[in-house]
Amino acid sequence: MDCLFCGIISGEIPSAKIYEDDIVYAFNDINPAAPVHILVIPKVHIASAADINSGNSDVIAHIFEVIAMIAKEKGIDKDGFRVVANVGENAGKTIDHLHFHLIGGKKLDLKMG
Ligand code: 5GP
Ligand code: ZN
Repeated sequence: MDCLFCGIISGEIPSAKIYEDDIVYAFNDINPAAPVHILVIPKVHIASAADINSGNSDVIAHIFEVIAMIAKEKGIDKDGFRVVANVGENAGKTIDHLHFHLIGGKKLDLKMG
């Protein structure tokens, strides 16, 4: 399997690491939409949020713990932030490895759709 984000996790492809443990890897988005724009991804290859199930949702729970921790560390937890997971063509998802965008550090556009 040829996956860009698996390559980032393995270190084959360089990235600006924010946090790493046995389950998740977090790094700066290469094309940030806001002052804070971090991608939080599972180390196990899950294709998208449409592939979350009872067999892997423990990983997702942990990802959200890490998101809360990073938001605090970055000082955006009080002012607010957004967590986004795009799925498929209609949402503009480009990379087939589940990733949660953690976006903040400014007043965000309220248009969701
Ligand atoms: P999607 O549209 O699939 O939800 O988001 C993919 C995100 O990955 C985009 O925000 C894009 O800027 C980011 N991205 C794509 N390629 C790379 C890369 O090689 N390194 C990093 N750090 N981010 C990437
Ligand atoms: Zn992958």
